[in-house]
Amino acid sequence: MADSADPRLAGATRLTSTAASGTPAASAATPPVARRDTPPTNADLARRRTAAIPRGITHSLAVYAERAVNAELWDVEGRRYLDFASGIAVLNTGHLHPRVQAAIATQLGQFSHACFQVTPYESYVALAERLNGLAPGPGPWKTIFLTTGAEAVENAIKIARFHTRRSGVIAFSGGFHGRTLACIALTGKVQPYKAGFGAMMPEVYHAPYPMPYHGIGVEDAFAALEQLFKADVDPQRIAAIIVEPVLGEGGFYVAPPEFLQRLRALCDAHGIVLIVDEIQTGFARTGRMFAVEHSGVVPDLMTVAKSIAGGVPLSAVIGLAGIMDAPLPGGLGGTYAGSPLACAAGLAVLDVIAEERLAERALHIGALLTARLRDLQSRWSCIGEVRGLGAMVAMELVHDRDPHRPDADLTRALVQAAGRRGLILLSCGIYANVIRFLAPLTMSDGHLAEGLAILEAALEDVAVTTSRT
Ligand code: PMP
Repeated sequence: MADSADPRLAGATRLTSTAASGTPAASAATPPVARRDTPPTNADLARRRTAAIPRGITHSLAVYAERAVNAELWDVEGRRYLDFASGIAVLNTGHLHPRVQAAIATQLGQFSHACFQVTPYESYVALAERLNGLAPGPGPWKTIFLTTGAEAVENAIKIARFHTRRSGVIAFSGGFHGRTLACIALTGKVQPYKAGFGAMMPEVYHAPYPMPYHGIGVEDAFAALEQLFKADVDPQRIAAIIVEPVLGEGGFYVAPPEFLQRLRALCDAHGIVLIVDEIQTGFARTGRMFAVEHSGVVPDLMTVAKSIAGGVPLSAVIGLAGIMDAPLPGGLGGTYAGSPLACAAGLAVLDVIAEERLAERALHIGALLTARLRDLQSRWSCIGEVRGLGAMVAMELVHDRDPHRPDADLTRALVQAAGRRGLILLSCGIYANVIRFLAPLTMSDGHLAEGLAILEAALEDVAVTTSRT
């Protein structure tokens, strides 16, 4: 950034580029460090943030990122962190994968924006073709691109409504589908997502999601759906059922294959569109390109986002052509939807997933993580359950192995303790008592082991001695 007379930049610090050095973890692959003459501290930025940004958006750690590569991130004070969060499941291919970075740079040398609705470009078409080829089942499939996960969900609902000419939607308690106005109606958690935001989109119904750890089985979920159709709504009014194959924000409860298979049959019986939300589960995270593949179920529509483009905002609805073509020309779209930079990144991400066999890597990482967490569980009574699918793994923290006594305080404390020791962890869960592991699939075994050692030390810091068994 050059010095500027622009008064808006008064007080802004000047950036100069120097080679990475001084950090033990700095390597040849580490990008140049942006050094400031008067670097802001995390505390400086926290003060500015409080004054400039509303409290409605929160963050896990009060440390400010300066640069990152693969599974490592450095804050503005030069401290190094291992990243077990991937910016909420966005970086299955790691921070700045060289292939993705190069694809974005090449596109940036050509054009950064044209708007597909104005002057279309090949990368949008090519990425749609690639995703159609990866969708489970014979199709034929079509894909439309949007920008955020919530936007993909909204568009999937619009398409299902238009196709069926019905308006009702069934979603699941504990599910998460985004923060826009239609999406918060679908999201199955009142605090903090719905409360205070006024009337919700009408005709949205919630059914229980199977959570064996909390005593909810597949039969319970289907009994509730049956009751819903008896007491609340005619299935002929339902346009879509939207379901996550593994609850993401809700706590990494894995849908038993039978649950998804029975949902498929229910949708077929009533002409309902089955939407599988793969926004958090997609792109090799669970050991398959899409998590629904573990069940053999073929959805009608899939929403994808996050790891689709390695950190560039991009989302999509992939769906059966006969359904996707329902809305009239002009009924779908968005100025930035499927931006050229994002499509270029998306194509590179798909190459990396295939060439680096990231689905297999997810199974390997998942096995290492699960084994280590189960070992911790045998020694710490605060770890109630370890569960997951592939590299989408979580541990649920409770008091004294009791599933009915969630320990949200310990969960919060553990995230902070890990942060102080140099590990970025994320929590989730309907009771805010689950630690979820979303390390890049490109993370080395060495970094994974280092991160797990930090996790154990952080647990020692915060778990009361009585929780050791
Ligand atoms: N669906 C699922 C399953 C998600 O995990 C998320 C984000 N956590 C969303 C939808 C919303 O995505 P976005 O935040 O990009 O709008």
